[in-house]
Amino acid sequence: MSVYIDSTSQLHHDLEQNLVVTCPHCQVVAHLTASAVPRFADLQLYRPRQVGVVYLCDNCHMPVFLRYTVRVYGATRIELSPQFTEVERAREKFSFAYIPEDVELLFREALTCFSQGAFNAFASMCRRTAQAMFADLGEAGRLRLLDELTAVRELAGIAPEIFAKMKSALFGAELDARAALPLFDGYQAGIMLEVLKDLLYEAYVRRGKLQQAIMVRRFFLDETGTHVAPFTPGADPLVDEAPRVAE
Ligand SMILES: [Zn+2]
Repeated sequence: MSVYIDSTSQLHHDLEQNLVVTCPHCQVVAHLTASAVPRFADLQLYRPRQVGVVYLCDNCHMPVFLRYTVRVYGATRIELSPQFTEVERAREKFSFAYIPEDVELLFREALTCFSQGAFNAFASMCRRTAQAMFADLGEAGRLRLLDELTAVRELAGIAPEIFAKMKSALFGAELDARAALPLFDGYQAGIMLEVLKDLLYEAYVRRGKLQQAIMVRRFFLDETGTHVAPFTPGADPLVDEAPRVAE
């Protein structure tokens, strides 16, 4: 595969049709089209080790910036390494409704670390997020989450070594405060991200949604008058039950 800039400042990419990334703006895995390539003459003059190219996302048309390492400065073409760096990576999304404030603060930082490709910093923030959850949910809540983690392992068929790392990262500090965090690569960190989202969902979002749904049902029950207060002789029901529609 070859990628190069010719003497007319055109970018040539063998596998141009396969150039897809997760767009940092629309979060869609989309094809990119080159829209701004540095001038050949400028590159020949300054010979930087890396070259940046601006692309348009074919889905949302926002700019996406990729950086290439230069392989060779030739007389008629500048060869680039096909491996590029995404300068701006897609942000991980999560809805924080129903999540307590201190848990949210820590998990937001975990997501930022993940988006930046700092996977071990991400693992550290996952441990802190888990600790904040345990502090909030108490010992019974912590044991429930441990059960939940085991259930997720079976549900998703997570490999034993990744499961052991996750358990150590999320729960290890509870057993031994000095327990070292294992090292995570991008793949393992990605799995822990999905699992922690699931634990957060189980611990807070599911309960919050259910409570809200029940509250809404109760409200409509009251509104339609199906839920009628007992009749008190002598009391004027219209005054007593003023906010209710049907009596
Ligand atoms: Zn896009």
